[in-house]
Amino acid sequence: MKLDVLIVGQGIAGTIASYQLINKGYTVGIIDNAKQHLSSQLASAIINPLSGKKWNQVAQFDKFLSDSLLYYKGIEKILNQSIIKPKNHIYFFQSKEEQLVAKQQINPEWFTISEEKAFKNINSPYGFAQIKHCYSIAQDLLFEKWKQYIAQHYYIENTLFEYQELKHINNQWHYKDIQSNAIIFCEGINAINNPYFKDLPFTKNRGDVLYVNIAGLDNNYIYSFKERLVPIKNQLFWLGSNHTWEYTDLLKNEEWAISCIQDLQDQLPYPIQLIEHKVAERPTSIGQQIMAMQHKDYSNMGLLNGLGTRGFLQASTHCKDLLAKMQL
Ligand SMILES: Cc1cc2nc3c(=O)[nH]c(=O)nc-3n(C[C@H](O)[C@H](O)[C@H](O)COP(=O)(O)OP(=O)(O)OC[C@H]3O[C@@H](n4cnc5c(N)ncnc54)[C@H](O)[C@@H]3O)c2cc1C
Repeated sequence: MKLDVLIVGQGIAGTIASYQLINKGYTVGIIDNAKQHLSSQLASAIINPLSGKKWNQVAQFDKFLSDSLLYYKGIEKILNQSIIKPKNHIYFFQSKEEQLVAKQQINPEWFTISEEKAFKNINSPYGFAQIKHCYSIAQDLLFEKWKQYIAQHYYIENTLFEYQELKHINNQWHYKDIQSNAIIFCEGINAINNPYFKDLPFTKNRGDVLYVNIAGLDNNYIYSFKERLVPIKNQLFWLGSNHTWEYTDLLKNEEWAISCIQDLQDQLPYPIQLIEHKVAERPTSIGQQIMAMQHKDYSNMGLLNGLGTRGFLQASTHCKDLLAKMQL
């Protein structure tokens, strides 16, 4: 089989890369082995303009957002499905000090502050902020429907990519019965095993994620308490997440889960029912640099990785830049 571009991995990086290439008229194939602790599947998948607890705007947010909207909307059109939606984000201050830090950075273009002691029956002793320009992405739908679309119109294989089978002959990539003009690796944390990019400072961290049922809570908002609560569907919410850099296993952190639910229950007037507890790993790099680059010896081999905590916001722009470098 002949392809213009073979992509390894279909998390958010591989999904966006395949869409951008198809949009330019290229034929693509994807090899993805749908791993269990997949970052893109377990993410809260929100776009948030502010970074950390300092209330600073994410650098180059406008550019990232306009690229994201352009490409997610393009995918929506192909799939005839709503994938990205604007959502107001209510941030409940956990202390007076936290509220003061936010007040010093106040910028009504990005967020407003209220001193009210409650928001829609939710206890907020220190007031709350309403963050604008937030979006949520229906990632389950995105990955599943995109996979089906690629299977129908292009090529997708649900297997492990075996690096030793890849051969470079006459400036073409040969992988088993596939011949491709270019290859792009989007393997998330598994890139640690990629022999072509073995000198890069890949690293990872783990996060526990809870899926909870909360009858009565308005699902039109993203909420941040000590942890973040993101509506998925009806009464089902995503709750998380912690960041653990030093770890030896992917066992569930039960202690964290209990205290996370208890903290949330202290503020919510609705009973919280735990549905599922999962653990994911985030692909990142030492120094937290996103890696969107060509191989040093092969201009037709690319890598998109290290998307860290903002993969759903930043994948589009970095992928666009990578394709430009690769002259695709
Ligand atoms: C708990 C948590 C919450 C998050 N919340 C957000 C958020 O709200 N907003 C946001 O923007 N980001 C968030 N992130 C970060 C975001 O999820 C990541 O930046 C993003 O998912 C990384 O995507 P990726 O495509 O690079 O990697 P992955 O999602 O890991 O995808 C890699 C894919 O490649 C496949 N693969 C790997 N190796 C091979 C191989 N050899 N053969 C075949 N297939 C292979 C894997 O099976 C997988 O399908 C969160 C992450 C976590 C863990």
